[in-house]
Order: sequence, then C-alpha cells, then structure tokens
Amino acid sequence: MSYRKKRRISLRKKRKGNFLKLFIFLTAIMLSVYYFWGTDSGVIPQVKDVVQSMDKNMEESPMDSLVEPQLVNQQEVVEKARVPIEENDNNKKRINKTPVKLSGVKMAICIDDAGRDLETQSAYEELGVPITLAVMPNEPYTREAAASWHAKGLPVIIHQPMESISGVGMEPIVLLTQMDENSIRKMIRESIRQIPEARGMNNHQGSKATADFRVMDIVMSEMASQNMFFFDSATNSVTEVAHAADMHGVLHARNNLFVDNSSDVDDICQMIREAADRAKKNGQIIIIGHCRPNTVTAFQKMIPQLQKEGIEFVSLSDLVQ
Ligand SMILES: [Zn+2]
Repeated sequence: MSYRKKRRISLRKKRKGNFLKLFIFLTAIMLSVYYFWGTDSGVIPQVKDVVQSMDKNMEESPMDSLVEPQLVNQQEVVEKARVPIEENDNNKKRINKTPVKLSGVKMAICIDDAGRDLETQSAYEELGVPITLAVMPNEPYTREAAASWHAKGLPVIIHQPMESISGVGMEPIVLLTQMDENSIRKMIRESIRQIPEARGMNNHQGSKATADFRVMDIVMSEMASQNMFFFDSATNSVTEVAHAADMHGVLHARNNLFVDNSSDVDDICQMIREAADRAKKNGQIIIIGHCRPNTVTAFQKMIPQLQKEGIEFVSLSDLVQ
C-alpha cells in the first residue's frame, strides 16, 4: 500500500475517532441535563429533538447552518441548548443556577365555518385545548355558536365572508371589492354586532378581497378601532393583509395549512401529522380545519398523540404579531 493511501486511511480513522469523541461528549451532556432537570414537563423530549437534529445536521454541514434565520423559535431553542455544551467546565453549576428554559413547540388551531352545526362544535369543545372558533355571521346558529364557545372560556373570532376570485359558492351577504367604504364599514360593524365575543376576524373565502389593498385598509381600520386582530386564512398567495394591518397597528397572523381539504378521516390525520412535523421544525404552526364531523374525529385521534410528543396547543391570539 502506498504511503499516500495509508495516510488517507489513517486520516479517515482519525476523523471517525473525533466524531465518536464528540458523540460521547454530547451523550454525557444529555445525561447530566437529564439528571439535573428530571422529567419536568416535556423539557427532555425537546432537548432530545434538538440534539438529534444537531447530529443529523452535523453529518452534512457545519453546525451554524442548522439555524434557519427565518425560524426564530428554532433558533432560540438551539441557542439555549448550546449553552451547556460550550460551557463545559461548570455545566452542573450553570444548570442548577439558571435552568435553561426551552420554548415549546406550539400549534394553534382555528376551526372555520362555525354557526351551522352546533353538534360538531360541541365535540370540539370536549377536546380540552384552546381552539379558536371562527363563527360566521348571518347563520342560523351564529349567536348560539359564539355564546356557547365563549361561555367555555374559549376564544372566538368572526369568520367574515369575503369575495373570492372565482365567485363560486359565495355567501348571500359577502364583502365585495366593488363596495364603497361606508358599505364595507357597515358590514364589518354588523358582523361585530352579531358576534361581540370576537377578539379577531378571519376571511371565509376572500381570495379577491384579501388581495385588495383598499378593502383591507378599511377592514383594518375597523379592526384597530375595536382592538381586534386579523387572521389571514391564506386563500390567496397574493395578500394585502399584513401590509394593511401593519399600517393600522393591527396584530395579524397567517394560516400555514388547511388540514381538511379532503374529507377522509385518515387524510385529515395525515395533514395534522404534517402540521406537527412542520411545527417541530419551525417552532410553531397555525392550522385551519372546519366545523365538520370528520375533521373533529381526526382531531380527537391526533391531539392526545401530539400532546405526548410535547406539542403545546395555544390560542391563535398567542401567535399573532
Ligand atoms: Zn370558511
């Protein structure tokens, strides 16, 4: 064997040895973290997830590249998890003195089209997580839906019908882009009058209306006057929601995923699983489902599983910015 070849093999062995040392070191850190924190409320699985993702990433890229700059929450988690690794001398002291608190993985669920089916809604009420209910104005059970949800201490928003590009299946009372300012204000105020429990609003359909700055500007000035937030259902990739909301100082957020485009329970479960995976990657996710029997069945199956995996269900209003 040539000298070069021997040298290459020995270098490779050396590198492998370094990785092994690093792995043993990380394992030791994990054990000490486990020892000093015990099994306190989901902290361990999160640390484990971070370390696993570090391991995975280190195979391919330098450690810095695993922090995706746009994902603030993940960055926080990784930064905090790094503290004990870098400060290897006084690990135990540091951890005892100032326990590193990891921000959890958060999921907010919004259930649209409420006000038509109280039976399905009551099944959602039993899930024991702070689901936000988007109640439609002008429906047979608008009042009952909002009042019953609110009485359980759960958050309500207005599900405002807005003009879509296709115009197919629009509600009889719908916010249209050709309406003048007064008519838009009147319609929004009437919705708020019907659903005074609401802390915010999102759009039902509305692919045309949410992309129209003039319309969104008027809607946001109404939101600002009532101290309400706006949740963009994301029915159009082109949107003026954030732009108009920011101009009026209205807090806002955008839907990340519709989970029940299919009405099949297994398909919906799969979409909820997809949402959980994205939340673990990004630190948080906001999803929309509907007030339909198969969707609530899927959530009944998935929510306890996801809670076991350390996902924290939060109110939509916790994730508006
Ligand atoms: Zn809707």
